[in-house]
Amino acid sequence: MEWFFIIIVGLCFGSFANVLIVRLPSNESIAFPASHCPKCKHKLRIYHNIPLLSYIFLGGKCAFCKKPISIVYPLVELSSAIIFTLIFYKLGITVFAIFTSLAFLLLLVLSIIDMKTLMASDSVNFSALAFAIFSSGSFVDNATNALLLAGALSLLRMGLSSLLKKEAMGEGDIILGATMGALLGAKGALLALFIAALAALLPALYNRRNNQAETPFIPYLSFGTLVVFIFEQRLFDLLGW
Ligand SMILES: [Zn+2]
Repeated sequence: MEWFFIIIVGLCFGSFANVLIVRLPSNESIAFPASHCPKCKHKLRIYHNIPLLSYIFLGGKCAFCKKPISIVYPLVELSSAIIFTLIFYKLGITVFAIFTSLAFLLLLVLSIIDMKTLMASDSVNFSALAFAIFSSGSFVDNATNALLLAGALSLLRMGLSSLLKKEAMGEGDIILGATMGALLGAKGALLALFIAALAALLPALYNRRNNQAETPFIPYLSFGTLVVFIFEQRLFDLLGW
């Protein structure tokens, strides 16, 4: 019964994540106007707004203009439910699990915005950091690890930028690094950075070969962070750390 409730909560937060993903990059208010079809602008009825289910019973089409609804909406809702379930499974039903789930939900929002626009939203980035600092573990340790990672990445950024003679990494990456430090500790954050770099290698090479645009890195960082958070102990045992 409680898992059913957690999945429903995850789906509803996923719905809210979609609002952030659609409205933040174009500087729209996240509260007004009410949900509407992005194509015909028709205001949605309450039963058009049920996470996951509406997409299925509408057959992936707007009820008014019949234009297709992006598959990204239900996928974000589903991912959010998976994030909530994993985090609550790992941490138990605690207030820490709520903060941690929200931090990871905002990483999901940052990831999708990065894939769409190659930009990081500062407000989402700082909110994720705040939730991460109040996540499980001691507040002081989390804040210290956040500063440590932000400092280390700033140094790396300065070094890389002077080496490459162009701006390497954005400020957004440094804030995200701080969030990773707060969630995982210094050791875990290093492992997550490594997993992210490994996972991004092939797509980045592919994009470069095909002369495509930059590869968004935030989705890989977020993925690495979730993997290390969930499997931390098993990964450390495996590596003998
Ligand atoms: Zn429509």
